[in-house]
Amino acid sequence: MSFSATILTLYPDMFPGPLGMSLSGDALARGVWSLEAKNIRDHGLGRHRTVDDTPAGGGPGMVIRCDVLASAIDANVPAHDPRPKLLMSPRGKPLTQSYVRELAAGPGVVIVCGRFEGVDERVIEARGLQEVSIGDYVLSGGEMAAMIVLDSCVRLLPGVMGKEASGTEESFESNRLEYPHYTRPREWEGRPIPDVLLSGNHAMIERWRREESERITRERRPDLLTSERN
Ligand code: SAH
Repeated sequence: MSFSATILTLYPDMFPGPLGMSLSGDALARGVWSLEAKNIRDHGLGRHRTVDDTPAGGGPGMVIRCDVLASAIDANVPAHDPRPKLLMSPRGKPLTQSYVRELAAGPGVVIVCGRFEGVDERVIEARGLQEVSIGDYVLSGGEMAAMIVLDSCVRLLPGVMGKEASGTEESFESNRLEYPHYTRPREWEGRPIPDVLLSGNHAMIERWRREESERITRERRPDLLTSERN
């Protein structure tokens, strides 16, 4: 059974977009995962297919209506669909590599992409949407955030990355940032590849990588060394 993604969006034409290329695109073409993008506007009201309205209590912007979004969810997601229903939102649970692993190990995801000021709170509660944030900044819509969730999940699916690059040594695995990489040429603009990497001594190479990993993490992200977040 492959990982299946259903996206509810006002801009279905944005998909697969970058997900149709490279690693994720090849995997999509091979059926390792599937993607459908559904237009929330198909469930809009009246002749203009209206999906939003002004915020109760006043203030700027528009809010996606709960009834419209619920219809879009109900029409596209069967009642006992086992996939988690995510809502992209700056208020959400931060996306981390361990959260990505958890999602990638499951049957797939339903992702609701917000626009404008966001969505009516009641539909979040009534349809059990789990809010997910990709970082502490504000985007204009959830589509690119959804692509980030999918890209990070898809590369972990079996058969997407080579066995060699299984991802276990990468940044954020075991709360460390990755060590530096080098490839040919051996010397470039007066900068040599560190001798140890050319030594053929695998124990020394492993130790050097572990130490570099720790040094870089201490310098750039000391918070990772003390946190449980990954
Ligand atoms: N008024 C909202 C921001 C709305 S931005 C607030 O202050 O919290 C419009 C939409 O973009 C959101 O509904 C959400 O779907 C998406 N979005 C914006 N920033 C995001 C982030 N950091 N992570 C995930 N989705 C985000």
